Amino acid sequence: MITYDYPLFRPPAEAENIILQVTLGCSYNNCSFCSMYKTKKYQERSLEAICKDIDTFAAIYPNAHKIFLADGDALALPTATLLKILAYLQTSFTRLRRVSTYASAQNLLEKSEQELELLAANKLNLIYYGIETGNDVILKKITKGVNQSDIIKSLGKVPKSMKISATVILGLGGEQYSQEHIADTAHVINNTAVNYLSTLQLGLEEDAEENFYKHFADFRPLNDFEILDEQKRFLELLHPANQIIFRSNHASNALHLSGTLPKDTKRLLDELKMAIDIGNDALVPSMYRGF
Ligand code: SF4
Repeated sequence: MITYDYPLFRPPAEAENIILQVTLGCSYNNCSFCSMYKTKKYQERSLEAICKDIDTFAAIYPNAHKIFLADGDALALPTATLLKILAYLQTSFTRLRRVSTYASAQNLLEKSEQELELLAANKLNLIYYGIETGNDVILKKITKGVNQSDIIKSLGKVPKSMKISATVILGLGGEQYSQEHIADTAHVINNTAVNYLSTLQLGLEEDAEENFYKHFADFRPLNDFEILDEQKRFLELLHPANQIIFRSNHASNALHLSGTLPKDTKRLLDELKMAIDIGNDALVPSMYRGF
């Protein structure tokens, strides 16, 4: 039997897959808008405990082919430890195709390109990366610990064999920095090779509010239609070098959109315009939303 250390988070796309806790908490745990792991102290689980969980999962789901490594940033583990975990996973699940994890700019910057290639060759071939914003002023206010150049540099280290699923948070710059937020975030996407891109909509959990406003005292939140306008400007500015699978269908989003960029950009903009024209009736009611 698996005993998880809660709270436990995973990307929506991993809902059907095995969630294997290899670290607890987040090694950074300092972004002002995030309260996910505030109740946990970051630690690495022992290899013995991890292998025991792998044995348990392998006995129940021997044909599993996708596994997500939790918690907040398993890529913080030393490469040698990750390689041992990946080797044991490959032995235990003969049909294994994909191992994924959350990853931060800090995690990627600490590893060499050769290490990342080695991890990808051992099936760690998808990372979930929170860009949040490409604007340096906002990055500082949300205490993300990195700037735009770090984000571009870190994503540039990811080998082609490791896919990148990135998230951006609409509304994160408030009224004051909305223009810069969108322009600078589009710049990041246009200068990196993200494969999947999701836009979330900022919604602060109660336990994150105090810390968020401590660093961003003059923050003035956007309403749903101002957020849709950000979404529109963002899509208009995106000119990615590669094809991107785009989603805006997180529980936080007032309007759900999905398509492939740049092929579907015009259709997505038409859907946005139609929703803005219709008004509230086109949006997901706020009682059904969460961040
Ligand atoms: S947003 Fe990600 S990196 Fe920042 S504190 Fe939360 S889990 Fe950690």
